[in-house]
Amino acid sequence: MTKFEALGLNSSILNAIADLGFETPSEVQEKSIPLLLDDEIDLVALAQTGTGKTAAFGFPLIQKINSDSRTTQGLILSPTRELCLQITNEMQLYSKYVKGLNTVAIYGGASITEQARQIKRGAQIVVATPGRMKDMIGRGIIDITKIDYCILDEADEMLNMGFYEDIKDILSNTPKEKSTWLFSATMPKEVATIAKKFMHNPTEITVGAKNSGVDTVQHEYYLVGGRDRYPALKRLSDANPGIFSVVFCRTKRDTQRVAEKLIEDGYNAGALHGDLSQNQRDLVMNAFRKKQIQMLVATDVAARGIDVDDITHVINYQLPDEIETYTHRSGRTGRAGKSGISMVIITRSELRKIHSIEKKIKQNFISKKIPTGIEICEIQLYHLANRIRTTEINEEINNYLPAIHDVLDGLDRDELIQKIVSVEFTRFFNYYNKTKDLNSAEPDRRERGKGKTDQSFSGNGSVRYFINVGERDGYDWMSLKDFLKDTLHLGKDDLFKVDVKDSFSFFNTEAALKDQILETFTDFKVKGRFVNVEVSDSPEGGRRRKRSDRGPRKNKDNRDRDRSYGKKREGKYSKSGSRRSGSKQGSSSGKRRSKNRDGFF
Ligand code: AMP
Repeated sequence: MTKFEALGLNSSILNAIADLGFETPSEVQEKSIPLLLDDEIDLVALAQTGTGKTAAFGFPLIQKINSDSRTTQGLILSPTRELCLQITNEMQLYSKYVKGLNTVAIYGGASITEQARQIKRGAQIVVATPGRMKDMIGRGIIDITKIDYCILDEADEMLNMGFYEDIKDILSNTPKEKSTWLFSATMPKEVATIAKKFMHNPTEITVGAKNSGVDTVQHEYYLVGGRDRYPALKRLSDANPGIFSVVFCRTKRDTQRVAEKLIEDGYNAGALHGDLSQNQRDLVMNAFRKKQIQMLVATDVAARGIDVDDITHVINYQLPDEIETYTHRSGRTGRAGKSGISMVIITRSELRKIHSIEKKIKQNFISKKIPTGIEICEIQLYHLANRIRTTEINEEINNYLPAIHDVLDGLDRDELIQKIVSVEFTRFFNYYNKTKDLNSAEPDRRERGKGKTDQSFSGNGSVRYFINVGERDGYDWMSLKDFLKDTLHLGKDDLFKVDVKDSFSFFNTEAALKDQILETFTDFKVKGRFVNVEVSDSPEGGRRRKRSDRGPRKNKDNRDRDRSYGKKREGKYSKSGSRRSGSKQGSSSGKRRSKNRDGFF
């Protein structure tokens, strides 16, 4: 018996689960499916997106629906069009072996006539956003007076978005005897009110906050001067060449402004906010899903429907007013078993907010420094070297090789490498060499009494190392730290600032451990491949000369999410062997700039 079978699911659903490749039920599924299958109950489940909650209510709902009848029996309310479509899509996948079962999506910004037509054909399950649902009830297009199940998904989001009255109206059109299942990431008092008012003695379950919490998201803050937010944002992006991120701003205006500046500066960015037409939002979201956009600048409301699993970083360009909102933001990363980083750019006056958030999320922030220009140069240099190593040779070049040989005649290997790398590096170096240190002095941490200070750039006798493994080798900051801890027999506090890039990483230890570490990693192999560690000689601190921090424009090629496995290294920057064609070309936004910026940086 599989673990899903043991929950009481029938063969149609089990077959769909097998097709989807789900192997074990997630926590929320394990807790809610047997309860919902066994009995007609009301349920309040505290679970975030990314925890598998759609299946947690979807499987039992599908199993309980009578697909021989065309009556609408289940209603799922969700806050946004995007989420509505995702749920519908998931429900259709889960019910693919249930003959005659129809799930229809009802949402604003699309033809009501077409949706009415689909409802008329018979939809046992309707997934709807509250506004459009109310509209359709008002017009007599849909009948929910006979539903048996009503699911309120992301209830806190719906209430945040001001749907209380709509939900109340919709529920007043449903029978009293139905079962109501409410899913919410958080339990503000508005949600508790709904539960009290519209539910009968609900059973409550809470699921470990898989995507906001303890295990998968590292929370970091960066203290900068008020005017340095934007340059700080760019540096955080430049220091993470494989970044795939959502950047949160507080207002639509800021969102648009930041996205425009990023695009202007050559980043693959896009804006997502409520002033865009549905069509524009769809375009941006599609580009983001395809990773043509690496930095999606969004308002909280617009970002609600985003259900993309491999977001590497959430960047809080500004902190939200509500702490709850921070939980939602950071929950966009670290999903589906992956790890993620939630970065907050703050000014000194906002420091106390960090303390409140720490209390709320029950996790400490790490205070980090905005990388200096030189540190960014170093990261980009390794990245460039890796890209050269892993670039697939274009056979067309062969026609020109004799002529190119002539041009490069007389250069030896070292010179050639120096020159190739310098073509890009010098430009980047020239830019960052002249930019200032963006970090505001850290106040005395004892004042706050919480949180760890990252020591990597503090010069407190710590050493920073380069290691030739990264994300591509299956590491994230947690697993690399574990690997180093185990290999070096160190405690968890002996290693800090573990920064994992695509095919290489950095970490720090106290200087006293340097010899032990270098010795351990001499001729060190894992599964037949050499793993090298070297001291990274990035100098301390940034340059102080003033210059506008516009940043080097990026080329679309440098947003490749290329990955490489290392082989025995021959020199400091040469590593990795196998290759994956990773070039994701041209977001509509970044394309314009990329053309005349045909370099790596
Ligand atoms: P959700 O929390 O419903 O948004 O689900 C997040 C993602 O996890 C979706 O892409 C689901 O298809 C996937 N998922 C749900 N349940 C499981 C499971 N038991 N095993 C693996 N993936 C799952």
